[in-house]
Amino acid sequence: MKRLLQKEVLRLIGLALLGAILGAFWGQAALGAACVLTLLLAQHVWQLLRMAHWLQNPDDTPPEARRLWGDIFDGIYHYQRRQKTAKQQLSQLLERIQDSSQALRDGIVMIDHNGDLEWWNQAAEQMLGLSANSDRGQPITYLLRNPKFVDYYEQQNYLDPLMMPSHLNEERMLEYHITLFGKNERLLLIRDCTKMQRLERMRQDFVANVSHELRTPLTVLAGYLETFSDYADELPARWQRGLKLMSEQSARMEHLVSELLTLSRLETSEFKAEAEPIDITQLLTCISNDALALSGHKHKIQLEVNKLLQLRGNINELRSAFSNLVFNAVKYTPEGSTITLSWYYDNAGAHLTVQDNGQGIDGKHLKFLTQRFYRVDDSRSSQTGGTGLGLAIVKHVLLRHQGRLEISSTVGQGSCFTCHFPASLMCLTPSQS
Ligand code: ADP
Repeated sequence: MKRLLQKEVLRLIGLALLGAILGAFWGQAALGAACVLTLLLAQHVWQLLRMAHWLQNPDDTPPEARRLWGDIFDGIYHYQRRQKTAKQQLSQLLERIQDSSQALRDGIVMIDHNGDLEWWNQAAEQMLGLSANSDRGQPITYLLRNPKFVDYYEQQNYLDPLMMPSHLNEERMLEYHITLFGKNERLLLIRDCTKMQRLERMRQDFVANVSHELRTPLTVLAGYLETFSDYADELPARWQRGLKLMSEQSARMEHLVSELLTLSRLETSEFKAEAEPIDITQLLTCISNDALALSGHKHKIQLEVNKLLQLRGNINELRSAFSNLVFNAVKYTPEGSTITLSWYYDNAGAHLTVQDNGQGIDGKHLKFLTQRFYRVDDSRSSQTGGTGLGLAIVKHVLLRHQGRLEISSTVGQGSCFTCHFPASLMCLTPSQS
């Protein structure tokens, strides 16, 4: 380009000199040079006009020209071609993305920074009953008015999806999951979970039915075993040992069935909170007395409670969850251990901590502890009559109270189980509130 410019300047000077020489024959050297330069200027203006005309009709072939203008036209022409190809590739890619999203069975909805519907695929159209003509640009909360969805949308905490029946068909269960992107724009993914929900319900019903059906035969067996045990002294020693084992195992099975029933009740029944706030201090006192009885007073239980702090919830469920934690602390710590129950609140809400100074749990087990039937040490658990369902029950109870369980433990130092409850369930007696 630099060379071209140099050439063009030399040409300009050369032609101006030629004009001046020709003009000198008539004694008008300056006029001669001026005439030549005017002609050159007119030529450039003409080329500019040609370029302007061509740019207005970019599909036409570029104007023919030589030297500098020829290079300019060529350069623009090639730039245009490159742009055209890139545009074509981009629109093809966009079309493919749109086609593949249309083919998805999950619904996708793009929501702009104002919360208005921008684009959606066919599945979303069908799941939400959207219409391209009337709904584009409408606020999403105007179309999905269920308070649960509005809360989920406005909370902006989109870590977990929201499961809710479809507003078009109550029997259809939809899972809504929002992701934030760009400048406060949102992508809403909708999945039909009706089948999964049905299977889950079948599993729950199956477990509940089997547990329920096992209850009667087990009660009969346990009853007879108890009667036989009364006459155990009259039986040969070999039979006595068998009878003792049978009694232990039937008690264990009864415990297992009862925990399975508790779990399925927690999974299937509606949550019912007590009308009055629950006096947790009183509840903890009862549980610690039961725990002392279970330990034969061989453990030390300390209560550090805020007596004025109460909780709105379901007393039976909370008793079951807290007892599980305290009885575990008795079962899995050696005699002489100290168990501390703390009930307090802070800005985040109310908390119950069950801390022991027992042998602790290896870190690798911690995240599995709330899974059903998970036990750290099978042999120890069967000695203690453990089923592996206790912490699963605790987790479910807390979930129903919008809370969560936190477990920390150090081998050789002890474990700490904390139940966190939201501030909305907390209640302080008048002297503190
Ligand atoms: P289980 O009915 O076997 O007690 P849980 O779900 O209540 O079942 O507990 C799961 C496992 O967690 C137990 O098998 C036990 O190994 C471990 N565990 C629970 N609490 C404690 C504790 N305080 N100290 C040590 N280990 C514990």
